[in-house]
Formats: sequence, structure tokens, C-alpha cells
Amino acid sequence: MDRRTSETDDHIEEDIEPSTSGQVYFQPDSQTSDIESDADDSESDDPKDDFERTYEFGNSDGAINRVTALKSKSDAFCDCYKRGKEKECRCGEEDSYFDWVWDEESKSSACFIKEDLREVMFHIDYSCGTAAVRGTSQMKNDQYYWEIKMTTPVYGTDMMVGVGTSHVDLNQYRHMFCSMIGLDSESWGLSYTGTVQNKRIKQPYSDKYGQGSIIGVHLDMWHGTLSFYKNRRPLGIAYRGLHGKVLYPMVSSTAARSGMKVIRSCSFPTSLQFLCCQTLRKVIPLHLDVLKVVNLPPGLNDFLENNIRWLLQPCPPQIPVSDKSRKRTRRDFDSQDEEHKLVKKVCG
Ligand SMILES: [Zn+2]
Repeated sequence: MDRRTSETDDHIEEDIEPSTSGQVYFQPDSQTSDIESDADDSESDDPKDDFERTYEFGNSDGAINRVTALKSKSDAFCDCYKRGKEKECRCGEEDSYFDWVWDEESKSSACFIKEDLREVMFHIDYSCGTAAVRGTSQMKNDQYYWEIKMTTPVYGTDMMVGVGTSHVDLNQYRHMFCSMIGLDSESWGLSYTGTVQNKRIKQPYSDKYGQGSIIGVHLDMWHGTLSFYKNRRPLGIAYRGLHGKVLYPMVSSTAARSGMKVIRSCSFPTSLQFLCCQTLRKVIPLHLDVLKVVNLPPGLNDFLENNIRWLLQPCPPQIPVSDKSRKRTRRDFDSQDEEHKLVKKVCG
């Protein structure tokens, strides 16, 4: 029994049909398999393109499955996605060296990894379950930071970013739509809906993320903590107690023709130097650049700039959604420069 609550918006790309088992199948409406050239052509700059729809299906046992399809562009790192320039967008992709990439040997059958091994596409033709992939690198003692850019619409049962051990079976849910990362005690994940999950327990953590969002992950194996960033703003510690584990970066998706790209993957030894930088980041206001505030010898400044820029860089201002089209003015930059000088003075 199909109880679709909304039927009019022809921008949605997937027709959702309930199966007899109560699962939901996403069928692409396009005849072509060329995802890159066709997936988003129906989109416009119209702000009405930001929408949320809920579908409800009755199971044979009377239970209701709810699938929320979000297709928001208001959570993007840059405004390329609003302007229909997503294919050209390289914003935030400054890095050319990557500690790790996606692992061809550790992925579900419904994952396709592009040539540079940094972008993974899920469910290229249609989706009948959940797919996931691991990164090539083991993480156990150091500080690890990486960033995943959501390169396509973000919607469906779940799309997640997180970590997991090698015990997670990546094909286990290939015929089931689920929030895969964190369904067991071997993985920890952040959903696009803003909840985090481990041992099947979901907890509210942040607001949602969508197409064009950059999700940063900081895995601190010294303190045993997992923290996330959204569009380079820290969201705080999501999990503790990860000491002694051997973890891999992971992403999962149930959505047809969805994609995620690694745009940064780096590591840094846990050292007094790192812990000092972490403390500086905590005391210096987030919108200021730590390296501009603290007087360091040029060599050390350059070393930190090249190795832990992600920790020390200024966070972009959190602009209210209604104000996102506003360009930053000269005055914004001038006042930030003055503040850098002021804090520098106070810090001596
Ligand atoms: Zn961009």
C-alpha cells in the first residue's frame, strides 16, 4: 500500500516503490547510466529546490516505514551548488597529498570507486539496500583528520560518515535499507540527519548536512575520541573510549546515484606540540587563525601550516540560511584583521 504524502514535486529524481517485504526501492527515472552528466540537470537555482518530503509505507505486519527524502542545498560549504555549478566546484579541495584513499578491496558490491580512488559512487543504476566502503589506512595511535564532500544530492534512508573496525561486513545489508555505520559495536557513524550512532543507539548530535557539505572527521587515538566538523566548524566530541582499537574510515549510503569524495586525509603524531596546538585552538576564538594570533618562529609556523592547518585555520562564520547569499564585505575582513592584531597583543 503506497501512502505517498506528496506527489507534485517533479524535481525528485527517484520514484519510491514499496516492496512486498516492506523495504523501499529507489528506481532512477533517467534512462541513461551516465550519472555525472544527467543526475542533476533537472535542478534550478530556485530556492524552492530545498525541500523535505516524507514517504510512508505500510508493511504487511502493519508497521509503518518512514523514509525522509531531503534534498537540501542550504548546507553546502560554498554557493556553487545553489548556482548550479556543482560539476565545476572544487571549493575546499586545496590538498594534493592524501594519506589514504578508498579501498577497492574493502567495499560493497554496489560501490563504484572513481579513477583517482577519492570519489565513491553508490548504487549507480538503482538501489536495493545499503553499500559501504572503507579507506586504505589503519588508524590506531596518531591524530587523524579527513574530510568528505557530499558531491550529489543527500537523501534516502541514510547516508553516513564514520569509522569502523575490519570486522564490519560491508555486504551484510546489501538488500536492506539501514543506517549501517553504528548498527553494531564495531562502528561509529554520523548520519546526514544529524544523529550519531553506535551499538544501534542513535543520539542527536548536530543539524543535518546535505549536498555540497564538507564533513570533517577528527579521530584522536591518544584521547580515544571521535569528533566531527561540518563545513570546517567543529561540532564537538561525538564518542569517547576508542583507545586500543584499530579503525578505518568508512562511509555508507542507501541512496541511488549518491557520491562522496575524500578531499583531505592526513595524520599527525600525538605529541606535546600537537596538544599545545589543540589547547591554543580552544582558547583562541574560532573565527580567528591561530597562526596569525600566536607569534611563532617562521620555520615552526610553516611546519604547522603544512601539517595541521585543519586544526588551526579560522572557521568560516556560521551564516544563517536566509543570509547565505550575502557576500562577505571588505569591512568583515578589516574587522577580522583588527581582531587578529588585538588578540595577538593580549597573547603577548
Ligand atoms: Zn564550490
